[in-house]
Amino acid sequence: MGIFSGLETIVETNHPLAAHTWYGLGGPADYFIRPATVQQLKEVVQRCRENKIHIFVMGFGSNLLVSDEGLHAAVIKLEADEFEHTNFEDDQIIVGAGVELSKLVLECVQKGLSGIEALTGIPGSVGGAVRMNAGGNFGDIGAVVESVTLMDNHGNVFEKKKPELIFDYRSTNITAKFILGARLQLASADPEQIMRTVKEAWISRKNTQPLNTRNCGCVFKNPRGVSAGALIDRAGLKGLQVGGAVVSEKHANFIIAEKGCKSRDVIRLMDVIKQRVKEQFDIELEPEIEIWK
Ligand SMILES: Cc1cc2nc3c(=O)[nH]c(=O)nc-3n(C[C@H](O)[C@H](O)[C@H](O)COP(=O)(O)OP(=O)(O)OC[C@H]3O[C@@H](n4cnc5c(N)ncnc54)[C@H](O)[C@@H]3O)c2cc1C
Repeated sequence: MGIFSGLETIVETNHPLAAHTWYGLGGPADYFIRPATVQQLKEVVQRCRENKIHIFVMGFGSNLLVSDEGLHAAVIKLEADEFEHTNFEDDQIIVGAGVELSKLVLECVQKGLSGIEALTGIPGSVGGAVRMNAGGNFGDIGAVVESVTLMDNHGNVFEKKKPELIFDYRSTNITAKFILGARLQLASADPEQIMRTVKEAWISRKNTQPLNTRNCGCVFKNPRGVSAGALIDRAGLKGLQVGGAVVSEKHANFIIAEKGCKSRDVIRLMDVIKQRVKEQFDIELEPEIEIWK
């Protein structure tokens, strides 16, 4: 493994990605890399740059659709201990990108810290949540992010703080390749009250989403002022199937991967949905999920 010599313990070649995604779909990556330290990440980034290898950064793969053909690229996942720290400083938390969001929500409930309970039930890592400005009807993560620690594709580590940081619907103005961690500003509150909100958010999710299926959450962004799910439903597309990909009967903005489903089925179904919604409502749906190819 000439390109990554000396880094063999963290680099796997021709590594299947399906098991790293919520969809469970997609082919292998030329390189799958799990750096143990920031220093190793720098080294990996440098080798990729020198060898013109494209980098994808993976969180928990809950918003990703990987192509069936796989990726001629390096997929880097920040899951080592160095990226999984959580330090509480009064009502602020300094948290690593690899920390699981749902665990963080529960820790905050226990400590009586309010601010991220709106994120209950969103599968994913802190890094992925910040990148996507994950959230929903009850709020999004951007509202509590004070600063982020980033690394660019030259390996430079730096911070970006409010008010320089801007969060919008499912997007941010962070352009650096890697989010290494974030500082969140929470507020003290009654743990029982926070827990009630967490439970409400869970119940709402359970009632509206096909949770025990292979899916990737909402496939399309909501166009301004209207729900993508409602448009897809009104277009009569619930239950529509292409190959092993089906529009959920419970939530029309979810595409479920059934047995035998391929990534290309999901993509073809997305195309049909976009076309039908355009024809009926003259609205262009934009994907919320990321398609890696
Ligand atoms: C059942 C279900 C329900 C969902 N509900 C919601 C919801 O209510 N609201 C919502 O917003 N989303 C929802 N999602 C989508 C998804 O959970 C979020 O987008 C989540 O924030 C993605 O996090 P992740 O770690 O899995 O990121 P991934 O899916 O792995 O990656 C998503 C993006 O983040 C980037 N990324 C990940 N980690 C880093 C990092 N450390 N540095 C730089 N970039 C990084 C990736 O490159 C990619 O661009 C849902 C998904 C599922 C499966």
